Amino acid sequence: MTTILDFHTHNMNATSALISVSPRQFNPQPGKWYSVGYHPWHDVDHLTDDDFTLLEQCAAHPQVLAIGETGMDSLRGAPIDIQAMVYVRHLELAARLNKPVVAHNVRTTQEILTQRHRAGLDHVTLAIHGMRGNAHVARTLIDAGCYLSYGLQFNPAALQATPLDRLLIETDDAPISVHEVTAHIGENLHLPVNELVSLVSRNSARFLGLDT
Ligand SMILES: [Zn+2]
Repeated sequence: MTTILDFHTHNMNATSALISVSPRQFNPQPGKWYSVGYHPWHDVDHLTDDDFTLLEQCAAHPQVLAIGETGMDSLRGAPIDIQAMVYVRHLELAARLNKPVVAHNVRTTQEILTQRHRAGLDHVTLAIHGMRGNAHVARTLIDAGCYLSYGLQFNPAALQATPLDRLLIETDDAPISVHEVTAHIGENLHLPVNELVSLVSRNSARFLGLDT
């Protein structure tokens, strides 16, 4: 059985992880799992049709379990309308391939959900990675069917408001181990680490469509 504990990392050497890469970096290694997308900070400003073709080719690879990271950021990156357009193209691809989406969301909660709705793609499941919003934001996203992925820094009330069957854990680009993050979140939730590890692994397997 495949276990993915670290739901979102940019560390190419990570194990038991979903490794997030740009299509230009995609070079699948045996036994590893990936999400592929154009990050709203770096890539989205000058994408060509060839770039989207490359994304599609990578996304169809069997070791690619999700599309992303994509999403929107109101504080950084390309103009927000370009971010929105690129994000919707990732959603469309996810719908075609029947894969879920890993989304970056910095103060764009309404936009993320509205764009998905307008595109008629509410059935595409999102995991919001690097969840730092407050409890109200958490509830809004949960009500919209999203999974929420937490790293070392988060709003404790948001974590408390997250149902245990929607909870994911990640290291992202931090130089820490997933076990440190798991221990920290376990303390906040008053849950033993082994229990948290098994429930988070079940959640990622369900989200990613892995057999358990
Ligand atoms: Zn990331």
